[in-house]
This record gives sequence, C-alpha cells and structure tokens, in this order.
Amino acid sequence: MSTSLQQTSSNGHSAGGVEEFDVVVIGAGVTGLYSLHRLRELGFSVRSLEEGDGVGGTWYWNRYPGARFDSESYTYGYSFSEELLQEWEWKEHYSSQPENERYLNHVADKFDLRPNIRFNSRVASLVYDETATRWQVTTDDGYQARAQFVITAIGILSARYVPEFEGLDSYEGSWCHTNRWPKEGMDLAGKRVGVIGTGATAVQLIPEIVGEVAHLTVFQRTANYCVPLRNSLIDRETQDYIKSHYAEIIEQCLSTPGSFMHEFDTRSALAVSEEEKLEQYERLWAEPGFKKWLSNFYDIMMPGEANEDYAEFVRNKIRERVHDPEVAEKLVPKNHMFGSKRLPCESGYYEVYNRDDVLLVDVREDPIARLTPRGIQLESGSEYELDVIIFATGYDAVTGPLNLIHIQGIGGEVLKEKFANGPRTYMGMSSYGFPNLFTINAASVGNFPRSAEPLVEWVTDAIAHVRDSGHNRITATPEAEEAWVQHMKDDSENILRTQADSWFVGANIPGKARVLLTAPDTAPVMRAKRAEVVANGYEGFSLD
Ligand code: NAP
Repeated sequence: MSTSLQQTSSNGHSAGGVEEFDVVVIGAGVTGLYSLHRLRELGFSVRSLEEGDGVGGTWYWNRYPGARFDSESYTYGYSFSEELLQEWEWKEHYSSQPENERYLNHVADKFDLRPNIRFNSRVASLVYDETATRWQVTTDDGYQARAQFVITAIGILSARYVPEFEGLDSYEGSWCHTNRWPKEGMDLAGKRVGVIGTGATAVQLIPEIVGEVAHLTVFQRTANYCVPLRNSLIDRETQDYIKSHYAEIIEQCLSTPGSFMHEFDTRSALAVSEEEKLEQYERLWAEPGFKKWLSNFYDIMMPGEANEDYAEFVRNKIRERVHDPEVAEKLVPKNHMFGSKRLPCESGYYEVYNRDDVLLVDVREDPIARLTPRGIQLESGSEYELDVIIFATGYDAVTGPLNLIHIQGIGGEVLKEKFANGPRTYMGMSSYGFPNLFTINAASVGNFPRSAEPLVEWVTDAIAHVRDSGHNRITATPEAEEAWVQHMKDDSENILRTQADSWFVGANIPGKARVLLTAPDTAPVMRAKRAEVVANGYEGFSLD
C-alpha cells in the first residue's frame, strides 16, 4: 500500500515521490506523540511513521487482559498542557490498557496530531545521505521520506522476544506473544492454556484469564518478587484533590530518582529497632503500588544486608498466600536481589496457585526442549498438551527496537554493528557517525512519561538550536561518546539494576552482550547533565 500524504497538513514537500521533511519521528506512542506536537509548535515540518494502525505505542500493542500501569495514573499523563491535565479524568489509580489507549487517542485528537502520522508504516531502513546531508527513510511498504533529523521514539520494550523453540511451526494450537494480543481477543474459554514466563506481564495476565480457561499451566523459569498492586477507583474527592495539586504532584515526581511520586525514607533499615522496621514494612505493604518499594528505607534499594532483610519479608508474604508449601517454595525468588528487576505488581496472582485447575511447572529444573504439534515438551520428555500457548517472554530491550531497522550512518557504518557489544552513545541520545539522529528510546527509565517529557523537550530544543544558530548538523563527539560509555560501565557495577539477569542488562536474550542498556544515573541527574550540556554551548556535541 502506497499512500500519498501530500494533501495533509504535514507541511512536507515531495521530490520524485519522496516526501521531504525537517524531521521524521518514528513511533506514535508516548514519546513520539509529544515529539511530534512539540516539533510542530517549533515550526518544523514533521512526518510521524507508526507501525500500528492507531496511536499509543505500548498502550496500542499490549492488549492482553490485565495490562495496566504500575505507576499512579495521574503521574503518568502528559504534564505539558494544563488544559489536558484538567479535562482528563483517570478512573482508576492504576489505569488499564483500554483507558490508556483512549487517553493517547484523546491527546492525538486534542492536538490534531493525526494528519502528520502515517499509520501501518514500519520503518525498515534509515540511511544517511552524506551529499544531501539528509536521512533517507524507507518503510516496509516502500514509502520513502527524507529528513534532516530523525527521532527514534520506538520505545525501550517494543521488540518482543519469542524464544526460538524447536518445533514452533509444528504446533497445531494457537499462540501469541502478549505484545501482539489480537484486537478481537484470544479465544480462551474452555481451553487448555499454557503461559510461558512469570514477569510483570504474566503476573498481570494470569489472574485475569484463570477463571475463563479450562486449565492453566504456567511455565516458570525464574520466580519474581511480585507485590500487591491494590488498585481502586479514584473517588470524586481524590479526583478534585489531584486536579488542584497537579503542579505539586509533577514537581514531586521530578524530584525523585525514578520520577515516581514516592520518596525514600532517609533512614537505614538497619538503624531502627526491629519493631519499628517491621511496623514500616507492614504499613507500606498495605499501601498501593510501588510505595512498599520506593518509600521504604533507602538501603533496601542497595545491594546488601537491608536488601536481603526486606527480600525475606517479601518471600514470607508469598509463602503465606500459597497453600501447598512445595508450590510456594517454587514461587519464592532466591536467585536475585529484591528490586534488581522492575517489581511486578499483581492482583490475586499467588492465590491462582491454590486452584485445582492451575499447574506450575518449573522450567529451570526441567527446561522447555521443544514445541510439539500438541503442546510443550520439556527436556525430561514430559509433554503438556495445550490448545493455546501465550508467550509472556518479554523483550529485546532498548537496542532491540533499533536493531529491527537498518540504520546506516556516515561511511556506511551500521548502528546494529556499532551497538553489538552494547549501546555506544552520548547520554543515550546521539551516536558519533549518525548525525541528527536522536535515539530517544535509549535514554529513559523509571516512570516513563515523567522522564520522557523533559527528554523530548531537550531533543526538540536541540533541533531548534541547530536551525536557529544556522548550523546543519549535530552529533556526539567521539570523545564525549567514549567518556559516556566508560561512565555507563563504571557506574553500573554497584547498582541494583545490574545485579539480576534481566532486560535491564540484556541478559534475557541469548547471545546479547551483558551491559546496562540505560543510564545508571537518576532522572534528576540526567536532567542536570543535559542542562549543563546546553549551558556549555552543547558541550560534547559538534555542530557544523
Ligand atoms: P520479562 O520481565 O523479561 O519476563 C519474561 C519472562 O519470560 C520471564 O519470566 C522469563 O524467564 C521468561 N522466559 C523468557 N524466555 C524463556 C524461555 N526460553 N523459557 C522459559 N521462560 C522464558 O518480560 P515482561 O514480563 O514482558 O516485562 C518486561 C518489562 O515490561 C517489565 O520489567 C516492566 O518494565 C514492563 N512491564 C510493565 C508493566 C506495568 O505494570 N506497567 C507490565 C508489564 C511489563 P527468566 O526470568 O528466567 O528470564
């Protein structure tokens, strides 16, 4: 399908069938939509290219039952428009996918973003034309655009990972990855269903489908520290409070390490009495969301004794909820530190294992060997007959989405090859030899929109700076890039996020280099560093 978009308000122009723009933004999710809006406000011609047939990114693709925020809804929305903040009413404290998708559609309509977006457009290649100093952008369906700048707003968790099990093609039942849950849903009623994986996605999904299926088999390789979400509706009084306190709420988020609204207790878990410590553990456990994690004693979030003390508290909470002690022990995490992965939040997850129609299979003990026409076979030879298999097997994070695009810079250098041993960027945003390309997806973690909004503002301001200062190109210097890569290496060693085998360090993907994929710095430090770059005349970047 080749679509001419010349009649739209995208402000680009066409040369020989190739549309010309100042900026191409790849992706119409949370960061892509805001990038588009901001660039247009700054007077640029912009084309957004989106693989899906609607906006929303993560909240477009992840339609699996139970998908919802783990951050408080009112801390997740955009903050750039007071009108938007005041008119949108989040229904639940932790809002579900359908509402989140509705919200992002509302944003697209309110700011009239659709005319600039070409849907059903998966970008296949980005090739830098050195003579024209433009990026040549080609989509799977042959559409072509050229742009001075490109922003990859393609998300950090969008390249779904399906393990290459032998026999997948021979399996006669139906299967899907949670990231591609069909719009019309999966037919699970009365079926024997298998779920592979027990990460944040699986623990949201499993309690939602368990009553519907005839039998559920969960294939678990690693037990996680899952904590109760305790979601609820937002009542009128709370809604009014939120609306009249948005400025403080956003300010509060921006002041914390991961841009969540929760602030660590500055006391050590080891410095208070046993009684006081347990009182705090229990009090926070009864609270919703990440409070039990991010409002707790600060040293729980550091490798060491306090971390292990709290880990044991959480393990005991799991043991209390699962009737069969053998099953409970399988569900208790023992091979990684509490908080070294993003905490899966659940609603009734552990109780699922008290049902007669649910079986937990430990695939660390006995790994999945292959799929057969009938189901899943383990290395021991045991076979599980299944009508449906759900892959909740996660993502090739951060570099994965970039690797799905052939990105070729100066001198024919290919980004995928350059990033083979981990991302080589300056601050996650720019890589030497790839001028005017902002890999914005590689620069943000935590409460995603809170970190992404200032990042989009920085990048779009930098693009405006190039234009307004009469320059043509901006790119990281090799020295700044080298120093950043070294900083990533040095400062990642002792943080909790690098201690477990997870997507944070690429350890979930066989053969992927084990390095921290996003900055080891806190969100306020990253913002300060970026501000300093600007204050020092875009230090670390060369403009020509
Ligand atoms: P994940 O945390 O990477 O979990 C993937 C699961 O699949 C793990 O249990 C993994 O086991 C298992 N797995 C992978 N390959 C396997 C194999 N060959 N055999 C058996 N098991 C295998 O992925 P996710 O659950 O999709 O979550 C990813 C991230 O998305 C989260 O960390 C979070 O940041 C985000 N997320 C957020 C929310 C939210 O609440 N807003 C919801 C869902 C996801 P191992 O652990 O042994 O590798």
